[in-house]
Amino acid sequence: MTTDVPTRDDCGAPPFGVYVHVPFCAHRCDYCAFATYADRDHLMADYVEAVVTEIARARENGLADATSVFFGGGTPSRLAPEQLLTILDAIPRAPDAEVTVECNPEDASVERLVDYRAGGVNRMSFGVQSTRPAVLADLGRRHGTMAHEEVSHAVHEAGFATWNMDLIVGSRAETLDDVRHTLDDLLGLEHAPPHLSCYALTAEPGTPLGEDPRRHPDEDATADAYDLVGRVLEAHGYQWEEISNWARPGHECRHNHVYWDQDDYAGFGSAAHSHRQGRRYWNVRTPERYIAMVRAGTAPLGGEETLDERTRTFERDSLSLRTSRGVPVEAFASLDEIAHLVAVRDGRVTLAPNGRLLANQVIVRLRSAD
Ligand code: SF4
Repeated sequence: MTTDVPTRDDCGAPPFGVYVHVPFCAHRCDYCAFATYADRDHLMADYVEAVVTEIARARENGLADATSVFFGGGTPSRLAPEQLLTILDAIPRAPDAEVTVECNPEDASVERLVDYRAGGVNRMSFGVQSTRPAVLADLGRRHGTMAHEEVSHAVHEAGFATWNMDLIVGSRAETLDDVRHTLDDLLGLEHAPPHLSCYALTAEPGTPLGEDPRRHPDEDATADAYDLVGRVLEAHGYQWEEISNWARPGHECRHNHVYWDQDDYAGFGSAAHSHRQGRRYWNVRTPERYIAMVRAGTAPLGGEETLDERTRTFERDSLSLRTSRGVPVEAFASLDEIAHLVAVRDGRVTLAPNGRLLANQVIVRLRSAD
């Protein structure tokens, strides 16, 4: 096992993130509303070429060195490793930049991960979601229940020092016992993931799950499952970082902090979002339009907005409140209505465990929300 974990303070450069969107998936999961497609693999080569062109143009306009790079989607591991690495090679990076690739568990072969690592990737993230067959079936996921073992083995063999597994709680098919089993399976691994994300399932309109009310998550059951995840992870030495993220010390995801700290980031590829000092802009959603616009020499812009100071302050407070850093007590006029959802320590307010999934009820009480 190597120890080349880039920690948050390793990079001397100011934080600057690069996100690359890969809009291809093997099939569509029942709950997914992301800008991704299961029938466009024929576009992959053109897409990679367009992303490299978009990055090259940004470089001509002074694209800063990235302190973190994140390949998300979609399923970045749908691309051949050499295609993904061609994109990575085009991105200017600070020394010791964190480079994360999201990977479907089915794609986690030792060979692929060795290729990634040799090409400069130093962090992996896998959407395992659950190890229980009924839950995976309800989510419309196709990987097997032993995926966590295969993934852990491959990551270790390939020599990655830091990595993540994603979990989802809230499926109607999931009992609290299922959540307990999944956690036992992951934490019982010889090489357990040092970072875990846990998301609460949401019924997104237009998805198979969203269109069937019988499959909508039950709020109380989801809260119980989420609460169990937090208690078990924290008892196992994972520190709570943000509503959906826990990490062992030294294994925080630097790229996440770019978003949580309102730092600047550039997004490349269809539907990718960028942020520069209060100006947010995003690319067109479909890969076809994106490729056509890049080929035509036009910026593939889908929209933009500039946040005024007031909105920026509110966003800063609400993002910070979602993290373990919290906000100063002065950020609230009163805590009376939300005392049961927060904790106050050293002059700062953080979400109490039972307030994390109810963060919106706390956020609306911020002074900056007025
Ligand atoms: S693999 Fe991820 S991005 Fe692709 S359909 Fe499933 S949830 Fe959506």
